[in-house]
Amino acid sequence: MKNIYLETYGCQMNEYDSELIRSILAKNQYQIVNSQEDAQVVLLNTCAIRENAHQKIFHRLDELKGMKRRGEVEAVGVLGCMAQSLRKDLADRSPIVDIVAGPDSYKKLPNLLKAVFESASKGYDFSLSEFETYADITPKRIAGVNAWLAIMRGCDNFCTFCVVPYTRGRERSRTVESVLNEAHRIESEGFKQVTILGQNVNSYKSDGNDFADLMQTLATETSIPRIRFTSPHPKDFPRRLLHVIADNPSLCKQIHLPLQAGNDDVLQRMNRTYTKKEFYTLVDEIRKIIPDVALTTDVIVGFSGETEAQFEDTFEVMQNVRFDSAFIFKYSERKNTIASRKIPDDVPEHAKTERIVRLNELQRRISNEINQTEIGKKATVLIESQSKKDANQWLGRTDQNKGVVFSAEAKKPGDFVDVEIIRATTNTLIGEMIPQKKRSLNLLSL
Ligand code: SF4
Repeated sequence: MKNIYLETYGCQMNEYDSELIRSILAKNQYQIVNSQEDAQVVLLNTCAIRENAHQKIFHRLDELKGMKRRGEVEAVGVLGCMAQSLRKDLADRSPIVDIVAGPDSYKKLPNLLKAVFESASKGYDFSLSEFETYADITPKRIAGVNAWLAIMRGCDNFCTFCVVPYTRGRERSRTVESVLNEAHRIESEGFKQVTILGQNVNSYKSDGNDFADLMQTLATETSIPRIRFTSPHPKDFPRRLLHVIADNPSLCKQIHLPLQAGNDDVLQRMNRTYTKKEFYTLVDEIRKIIPDVALTTDVIVGFSGETEAQFEDTFEVMQNVRFDSAFIFKYSERKNTIASRKIPDDVPEHAKTERIVRLNELQRRISNEINQTEIGKKATVLIESQSKKDANQWLGRTDQNKGVVFSAEAKKPGDFVDVEIIRATTNTLIGEMIPQKKRSLNLLSL
């Protein structure tokens, strides 16, 4: 019996995959522990989306090298997207690594571990599957407020900057039945929110059901109070989904819509297959059908060949759309992508830095302005945890996924509380719990 300590890096899909890994290992007599000191094996579930994600893992491997030399750790494994992307190069570069396994190889982990401990050999597996969805594995979730639920794996879009189609393979969807069964399990485990995951959820397809059908089924056939999803692709956003969201109170009024760039030539070089005009049209439709929606986005600055004028187009789209918040990144070339082979990463670092600084400043101003308009409004907040800054306060989220800090006695994570927003900063709303009496008066006056 070996104890395993699993660390997760990167996106929500990796969080979900770590729950699958815990389940697979626990079924095979491995004990998952919460502290590295209690473990003989350290597994790192990694991300490959940006260069700094790689650097973080190499830095961590340097730390583990010393621990392995001192006998504090017996085996080290690198799993996930970075493992798939670098494969054996990873073990060659970092000889302390005993196991390298990609995202479709998790069911083989018990055998790979066995090989390491019984025959002192290294364990590698990078096979990508056209079919693996892990639909038959029940994720071992840590109790909390939100549960992740992956409805599909892989991606067929081949955006030129993105490594995902090479690390996670071809797109394949789970059946509606399997997704619904898992949602029912999540419901019975007491989670108040589920976040539906997929690299491009709009591409979901199973037995004639599309993503809008699936969301309607989840809203109708479960009583999970909050259902979110991430991420849809602007190129094929199903318009019917907007009505499904508008008509079902449990489907959260928040959409993460990755823009990536606001210039048509850059979008074309990225192979995003939509134009600036089409993006604007989609945003208009979303806001018409779901007026109280919060929109968030991802943007890459300094993608190959991006000129100042092309960056200004992205700046203008951000100014016009006014996203509630945005994740803005400098482009970093990823190995094996189409861009790495065909479109040189030629924007100087100082230009990327200037652009990201300008865009972040703009977004901070917009986020702050939008948040100020929340003052005086009432919201139902789902408590997630204690506030990091003040243990006497709660941190919760509105339906639109905005963080609200407030005080409330006799409450706990997972409770819903009505609050009035009294102050706002760029990233957080500050609320005041609406006392029960006042709340009923408000309801009477509606
Ligand atoms: S849609 Fe594009 S950016 Fe998103 S995972 Fe697929 S290839 Fe990557």
